[in-house]
Amino acid sequence: MKKPDNQMDTKVTCACGNTFTVRSNKKELHLEVCNKCHPAFTGEKIVTVKKGNVEKFNRKYGLGEK
Ligand SMILES: [Zn+2]
Repeated sequence: MKKPDNQMDTKVTCACGNTFTVRSNKKELHLEVCNKCHPAFTGEKIVTVKKGNVEKFNRKYGLGEK
């Protein structure tokens, strides 16, 4: 395996505001999700979506708050 020799410190900026540095051949990177805000890591967004679905279900069948 040939080792890439054009790697540099890449500043990665996420849409959530988190920044960190990785080694890559790009000077800068922009992400929409990172390990700080990705649902698979935080579980936060998954919970939100599930909660929203329950509320929609409750509303549809008149089970939620009026
Ligand atoms: Zn993020």
